[in-house]
Amino acid sequence: MSEPNSPLSNKNLLAGDFDGDAVVACLSAHPDREIGAALHDKNCIQGVDNILICEALYVNKTSPWAKVDEVEVTEILNTLRGIAIANRGLELISTTGTRRAGHEFYVHARAHANCRRCRGKIAAAMQGTKPNDRIMYFCPTCQPGEHPQPLERAARRPASQTSR
Ligand SMILES: [Zn+2]
Repeated sequence: MSEPNSPLSNKNLLAGDFDGDAVVACLSAHPDREIGAALHDKNCIQGVDNILICEALYVNKTSPWAKVDEVEVTEILNTLRGIAIANRGLELISTTGTRRAGHEFYVHARAHANCRRCRGKIAAAMQGTKPNDRIMYFCPTCQPGEHPQPLERAARRPASQTSR
């Protein structure tokens, strides 16, 4: 409704005719890719950004560095789509259900803060190769598996810089 002139691809999470099976098939065509990187492949999936990806992988207890064929792609897509739809059209997004600054997210921009599930420390590490690498936020306890050396200094701030 908010995009009257540009019909969304059916690989866009916000599309009314979103084709999850096609997205799963596209992602699964490269089973050795890391899921956190694969989800940035615009040929396979649209309507996502790194915040949504970090948050959805946390919710699904999946490491961003897990290989595509090791994870439940359909469940991750369902989580991603739920977050995208719940936040559609909103300037400030939230995955926790709280829009108070600093409380909007589970892991995004929360490096060294306590995990809301296990109380362990949230970590941040880079994924991908430059210049297309991205900072991924995750809980090493809730999202077990191999991962690069966490960054010692990483953003810990509300992603949205509102004064409220
Ligand atoms: Zn945790």
